[in-house]
Amino acid sequence: MDSFDILVVGSGHGGTHTAVALRQRGFTGTVAIASAEDEPPYQRPPLSKGYLSRDLDFERILLRPPGFWAGRGVTLLGGHRVDGVNPGRREVRTSDGTRIGYGSLVWAAGSTARTLDCQGDRLAGIHILRSRADADTVAREIPEVSEVIVVGGGYIGLEVAASLTKLGLAVSVVEPLPRVLSRTCAEPVSRFFEREHRRHGVALHLGVGVAAFGGAKGRVTSAVLTDGSVLPAQMAIVGIGARPAVSALRMAGAGGGDGVDVDADGRTTLSGIYAIGDCAAQVAPFGGGARLRLESVQNAVDQADAVAAALTGAPRPAPAPATFWSDQYGHRLRIVGLSHGSDATVVRGDLASDSFSVVHLRRGRVAAIESVNATKDFAAGRGLVAAAIEAEPGRLADPEVPLRDLLRPGRHPAPSV
Ligand code: FAD
Repeated sequence: MDSFDILVVGSGHGGTHTAVALRQRGFTGTVAIASAEDEPPYQRPPLSKGYLSRDLDFERILLRPPGFWAGRGVTLLGGHRVDGVNPGRREVRTSDGTRIGYGSLVWAAGSTARTLDCQGDRLAGIHILRSRADADTVAREIPEVSEVIVVGGGYIGLEVAASLTKLGLAVSVVEPLPRVLSRTCAEPVSRFFEREHRRHGVALHLGVGVAAFGGAKGRVTSAVLTDGSVLPAQMAIVGIGARPAVSALRMAGAGGGDGVDVDADGRTTLSGIYAIGDCAAQVAPFGGGARLRLESVQNAVDQADAVAAALTGAPRPAPAPATFWSDQYGHRLRIVGLSHGSDATVVRGDLASDSFSVVHLRRGRVAAIESVNATKDFAAGRGLVAAAIEAEPGRLADPEVPLRDLLRPGRHPAPSV
């Protein structure tokens, strides 16, 4: 049986960064990354953006160049799906029965896309988008398709809609809630992206869901919506969220609810086992004390750094506010901080323009900033969120007051009234 000092499960952003961060910290023991996918480690965000719209080929989305891993003494075990963990023996078992031993285990298995459960949901042409294989399947079918239904108006659904529109397909987005991005963004940001999608010809169906898919010869031909309307489509892409990939860890006894619970060092409740990234629920830095499972590259990388520090006995890295981004039609949405538990919002800039921000306040202090094409607001936002700056809404709303000045009291004196 092979055995490694540190075994990482998952070759996404969190798993690979763990290996990199261990070597950067001088760790000289053996490190392996076991991954269900038999691909060199690659970035997931471009799957709904440049890789889907064919602006980027696979080599351009690799996390590191070929040869990097061997050069760092990191063993890649592609095509190894871990489905059993034995914390007592410190070994895992893969789906083909292979056993691999470990000194410490870092679980970075990410999440799996939720699927629809409705009549016709098994028809050919209905896809999720989580892996390179998913994106390649969609790409192969595109030449035979002219109309696509995107189920879900979250980040992935909207990015897919933008990418497929760029390829000349007619796209309809079906979102059961009254606005897109409603779980993650303030209303002005939703309305901005709705406007942009409509401007590019996307049909938005808000406040309705998909009740069933219709098909012919085993392939999807339409979607029936909950209001009874029927949309023709030769393809559907379902982007309705993700579930943490933690079943093996939970079966081994790891505590948690939505994901596995970890402390600030990434430790699970099981001895010698850490978890990071999409599958880990942590009391999020600057999140108002809530235990959250965050799905973002920055979160996976920061948690990997914390685990690497804990495994090498280095001081824990300073916590940083969460960040997210999304690209659609050349517009960049960037979010810093967590609006969870915020009680007020301030709009900064002109909503009719292509550049504005929404600041979320928690008890008068900056909790998060959503910026649309507003790089300076985003950059300043890191400091404002980290310091939980108490800010007067009038000054936050005034585009003449650079947000970074709020970090330096006195530069722009607060108005006297
Ligand atoms: P992942 O990157 O998902 O990696 C998990 C790895 O574990 C995979 O290699 C998987 O094959 C492997 N695995 C799973 N189960 C097992 C098992 N049992 N055994 C072995 N291996 C296993 N985030 C952003 O911040 N910005 C974006 O713009 C953005 N866009 C996205 C677009 C798409 C289409 C998707 C799918 C995600 C996007 N995300 C984005 C989210 C971001 O990609 C994830 O938050 C990030 O990849 C999480 O990293 P991770 O290491 O936790 O998991």
